Amino acid sequence: MPSTIAALATAPGRSGIGVIRISGERALPVARSLCRRREGFPPRMAVLSPWYDEAREVLDTGLVLYFPAPHSYTGEDVVELHGHGSPVMLRAVLNRLYALGCRPAQPGEFTRRAVLNGKMNLAQAEAVAACIDAATVRAGKQAQLHLAGAFGRKLESIMDHLTGHVAHLEACLDFSDDDLPELDIPGLRERLDRDVCDPIRRLVQSASFGMRLFDGASIAIIGAPNVGKSSLLNALSGIDRAIVSDLPGTTRDVLEVDFEIEGIPVRLADTAGLRETMDSIEREGIRRAKEAAETADVVVFVADATRPDTWPVPEEADMCLMNKADLSPDASWPEGFLSISARTGQGLDRFRSELAARIVDLDLSGEDLFVTSERHRFLLARALAELEQGMERLDGESLDLVAAHWRQAYDALAEILGFGDVESILDRIFSRFCIGK
Ligand code: GDP
Repeated sequence: MPSTIAALATAPGRSGIGVIRISGERALPVARSLCRRREGFPPRMAVLSPWYDEAREVLDTGLVLYFPAPHSYTGEDVVELHGHGSPVMLRAVLNRLYALGCRPAQPGEFTRRAVLNGKMNLAQAEAVAACIDAATVRAGKQAQLHLAGAFGRKLESIMDHLTGHVAHLEACLDFSDDDLPELDIPGLRERLDRDVCDPIRRLVQSASFGMRLFDGASIAIIGAPNVGKSSLLNALSGIDRAIVSDLPGTTRDVLEVDFEIEGIPVRLADTAGLRETMDSIEREGIRRAKEAAETADVVVFVADATRPDTWPVPEEADMCLMNKADLSPDASWPEGFLSISARTGQGLDRFRSELAARIVDLDLSGEDLFVTSERHRFLLARALAELEQGMERLDGESLDLVAAHWRQAYDALAEILGFGDVESILDRIFSRFCIGK
């Protein structure tokens, strides 16, 4: 019998309200004891009530919402308590609930129960985490699509096709002497490619964009002092109304700007702070470039149009900008530089679109549904490899080997949705969840 769990569902810290969630068989009696209430609570109706401690003193007064099983998030009886957002008082309420027979929830335990009770599949449970992690509106909307089951339905339709083809192949194997028609191998190959392999291939491709939506991209700006790196950051933040923040407390304070490109969260960092500490501008530039290039996805080198000594391009540079183009209209610098002016804004739109093209495959940006997690991408790629290995054997003697590969492919797809060995997958996934989710 699973125990009744309780946890704070809102973020820890002072806030307008704090929500405590209770799930399990004893959710209703525990809530009634907390409220010292004889009768039950009407389903899905907000009831305002005082909450009492063991000394019968009022701890808080808040809303109680009762969701009877199975029409709740977890599929069990759920009670939500909406109280005032004092961390101390919410802790006291939780302690009262523990005294009344609940236990603290593990990270992700509410969602785990939702999966185990068939309220959602594994991909949807992961989408719950994605909804919380979304750093841009586009990422959030993508997570909503997954949560609503769009990805699961797409997978299930692919799996249905695959099951049909495997069943047909196995029927031909089992009854090859009877009067079943000969196996139409070219036809089978074509249908499998069209209905199964191709959709999987497209999903795998979409992961480059989809995973970026959540993982984001980091860009380092390098270049000699005074070429205009900070000005560039400010100019970009002006365009995007982004936050410029000095991160204090580091020996080399890095100036960072957050903005988004095609809905992908992008962090642009100026490696400032080392200036004037070295005598040679060139040595400085090279050292900075090496360091920045190690962690950034794209390294942008900035030079100053009025100072040829700032032009030598370090090998780490992925993109080269010639800043202060407003001061040097004849553009007599080497090729490969994109001319910009952080002061006038000239060339910044072009810089953005070239940056976007380096971060993501823009051909994919028009798609609706993306693969957003490495787990999904990995399993899809494995399914595709099994399908292709089976295809290669189609012309040979051992058609049962083909069927075996295709069944492996099916299992890989099923693992995405959590069919099969659910518990061990759940352990891996929910270790990243927050408590109360
Ligand atoms: P950083 O040391 O590379 O971060 O350079 P800063 O952003 O501090 O800029 C150095 C100087 O160049 C400042 O006086 C800026 O106002 C000036 N500057 C930066 N970008 C431009 C530009 O595009 N045009 C002009 N005319 N001046 C600029």
